[in-house]
Amino acid sequence: MSAKLPVIAISTFFSAWLFLPDFTISLLDYVGIYAIVVLGLVIMTGVAGMTSFGQAAFVGIGAYATAWVTTSLFIADNLGNLLDPSFLPWVGLVFGLMITYALAWFLGVITLNLSGFYLPLCTIAWGLSFYYLFGNLEFLGGHTGITSIPPLSISTYSLISPRSFGCVIWLIFFLLLWLMHNLLDSREGRAIQSLKSGRLMAESMGINTSSYRAKVFMLAALMASTSGWLYSHFQRFVNPTPFNLSSSIEYLFMAVIGGAAYLWGAVLGSGLITFIKSYLQDIIPSIFGSNINPESIIFGLIMLFILQYYPNGLWPGLIKLFLSFVKPKKKFHIDKYEPSELNSRNMPPKGTLILDAKGVTKRFGGLVANRSVSLDLNAGEIHALIGPNGAGKSTIFNILSGVDFPSEGQVELLGESMRGKVARDFATRGLGRTFQHVRLLRSQSVLDNVALGAHLRGHFGWLACMLRLDRREERAIQLEAIEQIRRCGLAGSENAIASSLSLGKQRIVEIARALSGQPVALLLDEPAAGLRHLEKKDLASLLMQLRLEGLSILIIEHDMEFVMHLADRITVLDFGTVIATGTPQEIQKNPRVLDAYLGIDEQSEGSL
Ligand code: ADP
Ligand code: MG
Repeated sequence: MSAKLPVIAISTFFSAWLFLPDFTISLLDYVGIYAIVVLGLVIMTGVAGMTSFGQAAFVGIGAYATAWVTTSLFIADNLGNLLDPSFLPWVGLVFGLMITYALAWFLGVITLNLSGFYLPLCTIAWGLSFYYLFGNLEFLGGHTGITSIPPLSISTYSLISPRSFGCVIWLIFFLLLWLMHNLLDSREGRAIQSLKSGRLMAESMGINTSSYRAKVFMLAALMASTSGWLYSHFQRFVNPTPFNLSSSIEYLFMAVIGGAAYLWGAVLGSGLITFIKSYLQDIIPSIFGSNINPESIIFGLIMLFILQYYPNGLWPGLIKLFLSFVKPKKKFHIDKYEPSELNSRNMPPKGTLILDAKGVTKRFGGLVANRSVSLDLNAGEIHALIGPNGAGKSTIFNILSGVDFPSEGQVELLGESMRGKVARDFATRGLGRTFQHVRLLRSQSVLDNVALGAHLRGHFGWLACMLRLDRREERAIQLEAIEQIRRCGLAGSENAIASSLSLGKQRIVEIARALSGQPVALLLDEPAAGLRHLEKKDLASLLMQLRLEGLSILIIEHDMEFVMHLADRITVLDFGTVIATGTPQEIQKNPRVLDAYLGIDEQSEGSL
């Protein structure tokens, strides 16, 4: 999006602030408080794909922490002489954030590695338990809660009116929005976005998915806690009710209605729901009388209606409406290519032993998928792995890329034993790969997908990315991605959405993504499957070019003609065992190979 639009929107918002009626300002204050929680949820649920039904608990922790700090006699006795009382809310903020950080870390360690619906279920469980905890702790006032919380004050000015306090709320919201926007627009943001597509792909790009998930979770919790702090000093009293499960669900609703994958959706969702609810509360008694309360049913129907017609939330639709105002993304110029900004490795000289599988056996229960398979790959060669379906090709491929472990034997990468190492470690040491079933971030641009491959070549962390200190490096990553897209013959498709490309092109995007990581070895799982004749020819010339540049390539392929013209060496697997290794000419004449292929029924894909 053009940078001007948000600036105009925010300036208009703050200008209107002076003129809006008090009632609207109060509602907008709530919208801002909710939007901060929802912003965290957008990152966590919409962007990173982890659903939380427990966000209100963190709001509660932030709210109660500051309520306790600013009202407790214990604090007054101990800190009263050291600090001016007007400073206590800030102590409360830090205290709340610290508790939230510790708790989120603890809960994250226990729950985040759960898959499927176990994570949402766990969030419900701890969301509920915090609610009861707030109500049962006597020093937090039990179900009555804590009253007489002081307002926030900045030096001597007390922010007691909704209009003045709202400025703080919205300044914090827009600041967080800016930080989150920057974060998502960076190398670390791409890594966060890749979490949604599952572990396999992200880990193969060198991303520590467990650590990223935990960090995203803590980030969302800290935002919720900040929102609770604001809530406490806005309301000036707290009790457990606003931090119950139904509030958590409402936050999720806000995220989904606004557009769970869009940062601005957080404002839209919280705004819409807050205003709709307030409006319904006003008009429904005048229609139905005050004895009947059909608000929640009508509210539910409105939500259903919106989700039915806008399953991705309302923000994308709104953006489309404004699309004519939005400038297309800047085009990059290759001549400004600055690879020196990025980590780069020395490529091993031609002929170096890169990857070496030694006597690998893999058992799945009683089934032996690989039996004492030995296979090596040298720099500057294309080595093809062929064999009938079920021969064990994918199994050895997974072992060679660290996705699976051998039952016996071991794999060495650049002379180093990879025993006990995971896919991420293989990527760090220079192994790039593609997937048999294409694994791209479907709704992202080709450029973003390819740039993800360069993840390990950058080094700026979350905070630096949020503050935009990574711009030079980010530009170098983007230029590297553009260079690889061009190298693979996809120039011009940089801004295309990945899922809009043909399957063949998507496979090439995967190769470009692997190349951005500057790999020493490239593992390709059936890259020619689904490609048209001309596309296959282009792929073959690309692979030959890469070989010429010193890359080593291991390729699983079904198309024999393709392999015979391309490979320097071929290894044939049958029933999990290597039955032949040699040049294409040797393989074509090998009686065991002919038997394995021609001995099986005619319909086999792998007939010679
Ligand atoms: P290919 O890729 O050559 O078609 P695979 O390596 O996928 O063959 O499979 C080899 C054998 O191992 C097959 O019989 C397959 O059913 C079995 N197999 C593969 N993965 C698993 C698994 N995760 N669990 C159990 N059996 C598996
Ligand atoms: Mg396979």
